[in-house]
Amino acid sequence: TRTAEKLTVRDLSVHYGGVCAVRSIGFTVAPGESVGIIGANGAGKTSTLKALMGLVPRSGGSITLGERDLTRVKARDMVRHGIGYVPEGRHVFPGLPVRKNLLLGAYSRAWDQESRQQLDEVYELFPVLGEMGDRLAGALSGGQQQMLAIGRALMARPRLLVLDEPSMGLSPKLVGSILDVLLKLREEGLSLLLVEQNAKLTFGATSHCLVMENGEVAMNGTSAELSHDPRVREVYLGL
Ligand code: ATP
Repeated sequence: TRTAEKLTVRDLSVHYGGVCAVRSIGFTVAPGESVGIIGANGAGKTSTLKALMGLVPRSGGSITLGERDLTRVKARDMVRHGIGYVPEGRHVFPGLPVRKNLLLGAYSRAWDQESRQQLDEVYELFPVLGEMGDRLAGALSGGQQQMLAIGRALMARPRLLVLDEPSMGLSPKLVGSILDVLLKLREEGLSLLLVEQNAKLTFGATSHCLVMENGEVAMNGTSAELSHDPRVREVYLGL
């Protein structure tokens, strides 16, 4: 059973040496909600996700999931608390077969009937991964590797899936496939936190969005509202 809980991020800050990359940002992801963070290169999106996951030190802030305080939880334990992470650049294990990559995604759980069912669900979502189960992950195309990275994160049966720029380097057609997958996951009740430079994909996949500029939240609102905002249309949608 997967009961989603609300993620609350408060006053999150990240400094690299003396440089402030994220300045006291806050947001929530309600159960089953899909939230996006858009922004230009260097706006602080990746740093926000890494700080959330405990992959870079935070210089302030707190993270709670439902009633649980996750502020001090280590990155490797986040998955046990129901947060799955798809890193920027995929980071699949190129020298291992596709199927092994997927099984590694379930490392935090006992291998049981549920895991087998989860593997079937991933193959259903990404038939190509089933067809290529014995191929080395390094031999897959960029789009297939992105699907593998998402499938691997799903193997841990997260309640919240955090994705960092899944569209990076993909053709418009493949970006469309990623959108389809995100919408399907949303339909299944999974909560999503999506960081993207591709605003069009993000508005299509989410109900709420933050716009990050210079480490801060410059705007936030429903994805529908933001997609109609004249400045957002000009700067982020190129319209
Ligand atoms: P991208 O789209 O490239 O991922 P982003 O919005 O995710 O951009 P971040 O990668 O979070 O932005 O970077 C925010 C700022 O922090 C940038 O100015 C970047 O140069 C800086 N930065 C990121 N990582 C480090 C690091 N490890 N050491 C020093 N500065 C860093």
